[in-house]
Amino acid sequence: MSAVLDQRDVTSGPSLDIRALDARLRDAEPQAILEEALGRYAGRIALVSSFGAESAVLLHMAAQIDPSVPVLFLDTGMLFGQTLDYRKKLAAQLGLTDVRDLRPAYQDLAVRDPGQDLWKTDTDACCHIRKVVPLEHALADFDAWITGRKRFHGGDRLRLKVVERSDGKVKFNPLANWTKTQLDAYAAEHALPPHPLVEFGYPSVGCWPCTQPADSEDLRSGRWAGSDKTECGIHVPKAPVPAMDVGGDI
Ligand code: SF4
Repeated sequence: MSAVLDQRDVTSGPSLDIRALDARLRDAEPQAILEEALGRYAGRIALVSSFGAESAVLLHMAAQIDPSVPVLFLDTGMLFGQTLDYRKKLAAQLGLTDVRDLRPAYQDLAVRDPGQDLWKTDTDACCHIRKVVPLEHALADFDAWITGRKRFHGGDRLRLKVVERSDGKVKFNPLANWTKTQLDAYAAEHALPPHPLVEFGYPSVGCWPCTQPADSEDLRSGRWAGSDKTECGIHVPKAPVPAMDVGGDI
């Protein structure tokens, strides 16, 4: 067990001082951050994964600590077949026992996107019914979640914290500090299989209508290319941060 986890207390409720916890974990290794998250929120935390181009590293780290951690996978109905295959093979290889496929509500699709072409006219609305709403429902069962975001992705992620609170839930970003070089080294060391589309020039993989091959120097430039959109919306807070986030104890 890490020194970080040894020093923690067991607070995880609304009085948790997010800023202090983030400051303590700011320079910790991803595995130590994951141990802290999974220990502090045991039974009340999920990992959200796209099973995309960089997902294997975080999933492998989590599986080493607790292969039964709930993994939430947004199956939007618009994913590449290669991603669906990769999700099955990687989960089996890592021994993950609780990967949950989240799908859009039938009624939302029937009313808002009967032609399955909403992405052509309103990507925000499409992401809302296919990603934001299903994840929101699934996260209702949890107090905290783990994401795979990194600062080197750029944009709003440049200021990403290791621990944050959003919409009343705590979010851990264990890989926030890591570079692409570190990710690649970890994947090589553990012989993790790459997403099958990486070799075809996709450094970031999302839904097929909104993903294209991209420059390896700007990994997310192939997502919603040609538009201002850079995020699907699941990381956009829906409410102001409560005052209680800045006080309390850890
Ligand atoms: S990424 Fe594109 S296809 Fe996927 S949910 Fe968002 S707008 Fe729709």
